[in-house]
Amino acid sequence: MNENPNETAVEIDDVCFSYGDTEAVRDVSLSVEAGEFLGLVGPNGSGKTTLLKLMLGLLEPDEGTVRLFGEPPGDASMAGRVGYVGQQSSDRGDAMPVTVQEAVSMGRYAHTGHGRLTDDDEAIVEEAMQEVGVTDLGSRRLSELSGGQRQRAYIARALASEAELLALDEPVVGVDTESCDAFYGMLDRLNDDGITVILIEHDIGVVTDHADRIACVNVELYHHGDTESFVESDALEDAYGEDSRVMHHHHHE
Ligand code: ADP
Repeated sequence: MNENPNETAVEIDDVCFSYGDTEAVRDVSLSVEAGEFLGLVGPNGSGKTTLLKLMLGLLEPDEGTVRLFGEPPGDASMAGRVGYVGQQSSDRGDAMPVTVQEAVSMGRYAHTGHGRLTDDDEAIVEEAMQEVGVTDLGSRRLSELSGGQRQRAYIARALASEAELLALDEPVVGVDTESCDAFYGMLDRLNDDGITVILIEHDIGVVTDHADRIACVNVELYHHGDTESFVESDALEDAYGEDSRVMHHHHHE
């Protein structure tokens, strides 16, 4: 699926972002290699969503640089390469009175330029729907789906666009445990197939189970490394600590 497995999917350097007086991201640098599964963790309001949006070019940094597959994000060549599934709370599917089939078909428009879908396009749409298990929901409207089903439909749309990078912001909020397990099983499969995954998830256990690297933030980057080094580090306590706006310098005895 990925033609160049040694490619860097995302590279951000010294990125800063504030909403007015609210500083959300300070001097964060990190890179995500193609094929990686990165978990992005941190307490509420610690800048995770903002950082993800900066990575994808949905927000412009006040300072610093962002590269997506080596290009400035928003470059036309990025169309279809990145699939973003935002927080559910910000989208109940009401805004788009379309069926699952139609929504997933939209994923092909990055390739067809809103033209008619060819048989090949239709086959890719079918395959994407099968992959995430929404084939039986094809004629249902997005607004008639459960939260978990809707998230699957959005992921199918990203797959139909042949996205190489999937960015997910708390995709299973409000989804029952069994469906969560199925959802993360599906993400693991997609990642095994070579799709880069960046996941914001508040359940640290889920993140350490599925991600191979973890970035832990609280405005600043507290830790970025493989899952094992994160588990062994004090990054979690430091980033989630009471006075978490202040960088702690923890001393080992
Ligand atoms: P997280 O995803 O970790 O919960 P966010 O990136 O959503 O954190 O938010 C980081 C900080 O920026 C928080 O203090 C939040 O209140 C603030 N913030 C987020 N979005 C906006 C916005 N649109 N306008 C003003 N402040 C915002």
